[in-house]
Amino acid sequence: MTNWPVHATWNGPIVMIGFGSIGRGTLPLILRHIKCSPSQITVIDPDASRSQLAEHQGAAFINEGLTRKNYRQVLKPLLTSGPERALIVNLSVDVGSLDIMRVARETNSLYVDTVIEPWKGYYDNPNATHGERTNYMLREGLLALKKELGTGVTAVSCCGANPGMVSWFVKKALMDIAAELKLKVSEPTTREGWAKLMKRAGVKGIHVAERDTQRTKAPKPFDTFLNTWSVEGFIAEGLQPAELGWGTHEKKMPPKGKKHKVGNGAAIYIERPGADTRVRTWTPTQGPHYGFLVTHNEAISIADYFTVRDGRKVTYRPTCHYAYHPCNDAILSWHEMLGAGGKRQSQWHVLDENEIADGMDELGVLVYGHKKNAYWYGSQLSIEEARKLAPYQSATGLQVTSSVLAGIVWAIENPSAGVVETDEMDYKRCMEVQRPYLGTVKGYYTDWTPLKSIEHLFEGDIDKRDPWQFQNILVP
Ligand code: NAD
Repeated sequence: MTNWPVHATWNGPIVMIGFGSIGRGTLPLILRHIKCSPSQITVIDPDASRSQLAEHQGAAFINEGLTRKNYRQVLKPLLTSGPERALIVNLSVDVGSLDIMRVARETNSLYVDTVIEPWKGYYDNPNATHGERTNYMLREGLLALKKELGTGVTAVSCCGANPGMVSWFVKKALMDIAAELKLKVSEPTTREGWAKLMKRAGVKGIHVAERDTQRTKAPKPFDTFLNTWSVEGFIAEGLQPAELGWGTHEKKMPPKGKKHKVGNGAAIYIERPGADTRVRTWTPTQGPHYGFLVTHNEAISIADYFTVRDGRKVTYRPTCHYAYHPCNDAILSWHEMLGAGGKRQSQWHVLDENEIADGMDELGVLVYGHKKNAYWYGSQLSIEEARKLAPYQSATGLQVTSSVLAGIVWAIENPSAGVVETDEMDYKRCMEVQRPYLGTVKGYYTDWTPLKSIEHLFEGDIDKRDPWQFQNILVP
């Protein structure tokens, strides 16, 4: 396809922070779908080996890492270099998202990122408690900033595949389920309306159920961590405590489960690393399998968004968490790393599209507990399709970069929305923008429940009367 739809025009500077697997894949999508000149774009990355690809496409490259000390100095001149407002696309690791959002507000720049990233040192701070190292606390910081900044130029938080696109899938899945259940509803227009609809549909919870089956051409060498997206990002989140939005139907806290003493109370955490916490889940192609309960922002934001209150009392909230089966090589990498007492491998590598033999990323939302049992809605994108659709990325990457594109288009179309989470965006418009890049996008009902995945010789402490209790989902 050469006649790519142009979704928006941008005349000001575009500053991309970070040019790793996601940045590399996002740049060509911006150039394809946003009317702008490559000369408007500046990429900032401390890794000089990234420069060639950026410059080859006509962007300027600044070989620098942003730090707490230098970020204003580096960014401000770039953001205020012309008469038109700027756009910041933050796709880095170790760069504090909230501080960059502040600079965006001060300079009237639009802002999009894929994760609430803290400055270096947060995730593995030995002096922080487990509760302080959670995504819940990072999101509390975002909510405080949102309140403080109020209305103004748009800053889209956490607009990747997950967090990000999956929040749009939840709304689409909920409308499908409502239709299947023959609930007479028109589409909600407010957060409260969406939450009430989820309650009325009888949804108990949501897995962000992802199975990445992409396989490398060469077997994983020892002492190497392989993944289909940031190794650094995955190690950081995998070593945070497991976290989940905690639904009102749950009867029993998990072992080592803790509630937060501050904030909105939508989530709990478990005092063990997410990458070592398994859950029973289901995706259409692979069927039942173990996923990892890796903490993610969407587990908390979705649970919060769909909360129903009577005054201050919470009357309904779905459970929500990630159930991630990364590519097999990433699982082997975790096994190797955790088995060595957390000693990091000497080599970290993100697989590119040429190193992958086959497989797909099957990423969707499994919405469960209602009268039709469970419904998975999501994207099934193979590496072969991804290679044809866009350069410089795997299937995993393309699900993320097309979400970033959707976030940019939405921000340009809604430039005064203040700080927003993806749950608050127009899910139909965003899905429309990214749909060509998602492979098969489809919904599947299933009669699977976690009880079906429990080996009967080792049943342990399960709740047979209520299949969708988290107690049955968590692998002890
Ligand atoms: P990556 O590890 O491939 O690349 C990160 C890039 O950031 C590298 O090029 C690195 O040199 C650069 N960087 C490091 N420190 C920096 C600094 N101080 N200033 C500027 N740049 C710096 O990671 P990736 O796979 O491209 O992921 C990028 C970000 O997107 C990560 O935060 C990751 O967690 C996030 N992500 C989100 C989703 C989602 O679905 N929401 C999915 C994948 C990745």
